[in-house]
Order: sequence, then C-alpha cells, then structure tokens
Amino acid sequence: MTRLSLIALAMASTALPAFADEVNIYSHRQPELIQPLLDAFTAETGIAVNVAFVDKGMAERLVAEGDRSPADLVLTVDVARLMQVVDAGVTQPVQSDILNANIPAEYRDPGNQWFGLTTRARIVYASKDRVKDGEVTTYEDLASDKWKGRICTRSGTNDYNVALTAAVLAHHDADYTKAWLEGVKANLARKPDGGDRDQVKAIWAGECDIAVGNTYYMGQMLADPEQTEWANSVRIVFPQFENSGTHMNVSGIAMTKAAPNHDAALKLMEWLSTDAAQKIYAETNHEFPVKAGVERSELVKSWGAFTADSLPLADVAAQRPAALKLIEEVDFDG
Ligand code: FE
Repeated sequence: MTRLSLIALAMASTALPAFADEVNIYSHRQPELIQPLLDAFTAETGIAVNVAFVDKGMAERLVAEGDRSPADLVLTVDVARLMQVVDAGVTQPVQSDILNANIPAEYRDPGNQWFGLTTRARIVYASKDRVKDGEVTTYEDLASDKWKGRICTRSGTNDYNVALTAAVLAHHDADYTKAWLEGVKANLARKPDGGDRDQVKAIWAGECDIAVGNTYYMGQMLADPEQTEWANSVRIVFPQFENSGTHMNVSGIAMTKAAPNHDAALKLMEWLSTDAAQKIYAETNHEFPVKAGVERSELVKSWGAFTADSLPLADVAAQRPAALKLIEEVDFDG
C-alpha cells in the first residue's frame, strides 16, 4: 500500500481487512529517517510496512478513528508525545520478553504502553573560545551567578525543556525547582526564541556562551553546510544532576489499541530492538542505541562517554504537568 492510500484508508470510515503480512505506522518522525530501516525489516521478514507521516494531532486522530484505525504502531520522539497517545487511551500494553530484555527498564513504560527505541541527551553546547574546560558542571549550577547573561535556550514550554525541568523536579522539590527556573531565567542572554540549533548559532554569533540542546542536533548541524560553522564553534559537554547523571529522553514506539495487524506489529517492535536495527536507527539520527552494548556511530562516540541519569523516564514524565506549571509561574519566556 502506498502512503497515500494508507492515508485514504485512514480517512475512510469502513472497517479494514487485516493482512497478516503488513504493518501500518503513524509516524511523527520524518519518513526518510526510518524508511531504510523498514525496508530492511521487509527484506528480512516479507512483512510490508506502510508509513503515514502524522505531523500534528496524532492522539486526536487515533481517538477519532477508534477501533477502525488502520494504524498498528505509533512512532514518535519525546516521552511527552508518547504519553499523549497513552493518556488518550488509544494504545495497548505489549508483553514481550524480547522488548523487556533489549530495552532497559528506565526507557520503557512500567505498564508496557510505550518503549524507547533510541535515546538522546539534553546537554550543554559550550563556546570553544569562551567556556573553559570544567566550567560546565551540573544542571543545578546553570542557575548560579557565574552564568549571568551567558545562557541561551529555546522556550521553557518546549517539550524538551519541560522534560528537563521535570527531571529537576524529580531530583529536588517544587521550591527548589522554582528557584532554579528563576535563576536560569535571570542568566539568559536573551529571551527564549527558536529551536536548539538557533541557540548554537547565537553562541557562534557571540550572543551567549552556553546553550541547552539535544545531542543529535550536533550531527544535523555538521551535515548542513550553512550550520557547520555554528557546530564547530561549540563543544558538547554532558552536565549531570548533583546526585545522578545526564538527562535523557527517547524516541519511541507504542502499539495502538486498534492494531489490526497485531502479530506483525509486535514482530516489528521486537525487530527494532535488536542489535542490527538499533545500530542503523540510532546512527541515522545521531542518537544513542537504547540497547546496551550496541555500538554508537563514530560521530556520537566522539562526543565522549557520560553517565546517564538513573531515574526512570516514566518517573520524570510523571512530573511534567507540575514542571510546566512552575515554568509558567516564573514566566520563563517573559
Ligand atoms: Fe528535536
């Protein structure tokens, strides 16, 4: 089935026949990012994979389609978006010894509703010229006076920053987190604006010395001739929480409640957690394989080793609503 016909089917209101030999994915990720991987799965198993790119309103669409949804799997980035579909009641738990063995418990839902497939760290991009080795230490330290006027970041209400704030909250308490947010806000060189790469550009332009951003953007900037200079003006530093490691998030997958091709979908989920698939999937977007022991790409390896935060991502995600409230209370973007 072509992508177009899948979309047409998704919009049709009739019940769909279930083919044992195909899987339908609603993907929030760019199709070109996952197509090579899915082609490999089809070559190996003979199971066809149809991808519909769903940019916005994933949960709403699945709710509207209900039992008639042709989608078996949802593929997306950030635990926030995974939780959105889970909280909308359109996913089902998946019991799989393979998934449980391959994916560390920190990166999957304790209720088996979502599973991380790759991880990314939220790190500090530091100016090579203006930030000394060892100057960037903890996330907590980002609120200290030494960074006054030196930090750039995207909006506080962006999913990535809400997750980071939720992690601060999970490690401390509401009073501490509010003071931390106020401290970081007081240190900003300019009002939050743009995406993570725009903050690195601002370092390159001399507007700020450090920026908070996700690791894979380094790979994306290096691959873009217009942004290579920005990338080369910074180095990646892995901050830690005072009593733990570096804040991580995931790209992940969930099975829909409707899942007309349940068995084939399960097969694909499990296959995506295997060594070979993990290596390709992580490498394609400069992410970390979620499965322990799978080799990182050369570029990702060059960023160095670090210790990941040991808190389960589900525990961090549980703090998101409270974190968002604090971000709004301190008017972080204001
Ligand atoms: Fe991103």
